[in-house]
Amino acid sequence: MLKPLSPYDRAMRFVHEAFDRLKLSKTERAMLGKPRNMVTGDVTFKRDDGTSMTVHGYRVQHSNARGPYKGGIRYHPDADIEEVKALATLMSIKNAVVGIPFGGAKGGVQVDPKLLSAAELQRMSRAYMRLIADHVGPDIDIPAPDVNTNAQIMAWMRDEYETIKGVYAPALITGKPLSYGGSVGRDKATARGAFLVLSELASIEALDMRSLRVAVQGFGNAGSEMAVFLHNAGATVVAVSDSHGGIYSKSGLDPIRIRREKNKTGSIRGMYCEGSVCDVQRMKHDDAKIITNEQLLELDCDVLIPAALDNVIHAKNAAKIRAGIILELANGPVSPEADEILNKRGVIIVPDVLANAGGVTVSYFEWVQGRSGNEWTGERVESELSRIMLRAFEQVRAEAKRKKLSLRQAAFNIAVQRIVEAVRVRGWTG
Ligand code: NAD
Repeated sequence: MLKPLSPYDRAMRFVHEAFDRLKLSKTERAMLGKPRNMVTGDVTFKRDDGTSMTVHGYRVQHSNARGPYKGGIRYHPDADIEEVKALATLMSIKNAVVGIPFGGAKGGVQVDPKLLSAAELQRMSRAYMRLIADHVGPDIDIPAPDVNTNAQIMAWMRDEYETIKGVYAPALITGKPLSYGGSVGRDKATARGAFLVLSELASIEALDMRSLRVAVQGFGNAGSEMAVFLHNAGATVVAVSDSHGGIYSKSGLDPIRIRREKNKTGSIRGMYCEGSVCDVQRMKHDDAKIITNEQLLELDCDVLIPAALDNVIHAKNAAKIRAGIILELANGPVSPEADEILNKRGVIIVPDVLANAGGVTVSYFEWVQGRSGNEWTGERVESELSRIMLRAFEQVRAEAKRKKLSLRQAAFNIAVQRIVEAVRVRGWTG
């Protein structure tokens, strides 16, 4: 039996296909074909009972041809080197698609953070920063939050870095709290960027937003904000889910209330909300029924938004997907095999490297503010985000049309070309 592809193999499949389409030389491929640097090591910290715990930590720096390395830090039991390499590669592509002056990186700690107290989480986050401190910096590599990390964790990491180095470094890390160098608009940026792209796509396809039925898998930061944007624009959010399962209502759910109730009823262990969307009280309100995460993906709807995990749409379920549009808010939710099957069926897939790039775009604004000492207004953040996202979408759509490619193929073409051009002018190819 064939060994299943690793997350890195899946990401590299899309990159290698772009290499072939663009007929890149061996030297050019080598510059992008593997990460430039990998930091791995033990992250050791004290538990509350006085014992010590050691977990694996990683920072993968894929490319800095276009600017400093940039990418989030994930805390997850599955965050191994293969996953972190894949996510670092996708960051290089994403930053080039939207044309912001960063390369790509990603960090990970292989741990279930829900098993730690808040104090243990702080000690682990500081220990992780000690592991990577010599490899990051405002001009070198700028980390940010990702799955299971948040503004508070970024604040601890910045503080640890500033203590170790004896410097003031607001531009070291993005996704910080507003009271400690964060940017307005970062919390909603990923969903706002995706919503802008979907609205533009709908208008091009002559679809009325108010007639769209949407299913969202994952009701976290990105997914819940996206559901609220869609609801406010008049779309019908027919299903949402989280790790506990999902709910479906043909007439539509109210994501604002679901979020409020989830926050209210969710118990807090450590720093993580453990509540679920499957709340009996709420289901009564919305005339909803319980569905599984697998059923959610196969629902009869117009737009499907995977906003939780990677590889959820694969060769085995691709044929069962009924949505006409898939908007990838999660990183890597559609496998290369499923991508091929869905493209053949004419399903429009807005790829992760475009759809969820709003988050890193506002992180770029936060970095600019950190470096200059100026604070941007919410209006400025929104209007600049809109300009960058719509410009990227237009460029990707034009490339797709010109070369008869899917949006993903077009996005990878543009990104790889931009990175290769930077490599070339810097003289790295000899
Ligand atoms: P999050 O931790 O806030 O939310 C994740 C959500 O997914 C939670 O509701 C969780 O319950 C749910 N979930 C977990 N396991 C699940 C399962 N098996 N089935 C269904 N749902 C499940 O994370 P987030 O920040 O919203 O990120 C979600 C995805 O979006 C990730 O792939 C992340 O890399 C990507 N992303 C997020 C941002 C951002 O700014 N938040 C930016 C770019 C990409």
